[in-house]
Amino acid sequence: MPAPLEIIDAHKTFRTPEGGTLTALDGVSLKLAAAEFVTLLGPSGCGKTTLLRTISGFETLDAGDIVIDGAAVTQLPAHRRPVNTVFQRYALFGHMSVARNVGYALEIAGRDKREIRTRVGEMLELVGLAGLGKRMVSQLSGGQQQRVALARALAGKPKLLLLDEPLSALDKNLRQKMQQELKALQRELGIGFIFVTHDQEEALTMSDRIAVLAHGRIQQIGAPSALYQTPVNLFTADFLGESNLLPVTLDGQVARLADGQGFACDRPAGQATLLLRPEALGLARPEGPALRFSGTIGEVYYTGKDHQVTLQAEALGTLRALLRTGSPLPEPGAGLELFAPATGLHLIDEVAS
Ligand code: ATP
Repeated sequence: MPAPLEIIDAHKTFRTPEGGTLTALDGVSLKLAAAEFVTLLGPSGCGKTTLLRTISGFETLDAGDIVIDGAAVTQLPAHRRPVNTVFQRYALFGHMSVARNVGYALEIAGRDKREIRTRVGEMLELVGLAGLGKRMVSQLSGGQQQRVALARALAGKPKLLLLDEPLSALDKNLRQKMQQELKALQRELGIGFIFVTHDQEEALTMSDRIAVLAHGRIQQIGAPSALYQTPVNLFTADFLGESNLLPVTLDGQVARLADGQGFACDRPAGQATLLLRPEALGLARPEGPALRFSGTIGEVYYTGKDHQVTLQAEALGTLRALLRTGSPLPEPGAGLELFAPATGLHLIDEVAS
């Protein structure tokens, strides 16, 4: 079975009004596995939307190729590509009924009326809106409009669905519900999804793989847990979740922190950065070798299931820790000791500036 999508060395530059050039895509390559859910994650301006637009055909590439379901589409106009997009603001026709919105593209394509009616019925059923076909779109809630947009995008049986921040207009609870629905829908349909979001948590929960983008380049692509636990560079480590990034000096056998403590590390001599996620720090000394951080408590935030704590650690600066609630916590300004197991630690080759 061909891959739903293959992007080969995509380049795209825009002209700026001042007469300069701006590189939006700088050699992006990406191959989707069958029925895979891949999220593009990155800061504003990193090229996510441009990448989606070059896949859908709304934007042309300067160099590189786009292959969808085994067929090169690089030179094809948008309407001839077997892909559809769900947009952030849904782009629905407010003055038309739900059913007409969903069947619109099929109507324009001159499909048979009965076929359209059947397909629209199936799509409304699929997204949980059966029976609402006659309603005007303007009479629907945000979540329902979102579902209409999905049904519309899927009506033409695309081989690949592109989703450009489709949930960002929804409030938190509805957003979480729609995340689960979208994921279930994708599994049921078995087609590739490319999902764009700013929201790291959304990316971590929904994706088979995440591609982290910065400056038009994929910094790292992999399973959410791999990106979170073993980021290859400081950008990915910092962008995905909270992190403590501590400079270390390596002598070939031991990695040493700025406060003098060290841990066994079989890497060439030089400089590197230790990644310690806040949840790796705890109040209890673990069995086996451990790192110990003592200092003064800065801030304590209660989140329900844990306390977010900052520790002003001697010689190391501010450390963030996530401590389970239940254990009594001293007040801000009090002294505190935190521990982390000194095994399985992740080092990043770059040095934090
Ligand atoms: P956001 O998260 O804010 O939507 P993004 O990651 O989707 O950002 P893009 O919209 O792909 O980023 O933009 C990438 C870069 O290309 C930005 O610097 C943007 O200003 C620029 N850009 C995008 N489209 C055009 C255009 N039509 N003309 C000129 N510059 C553009």
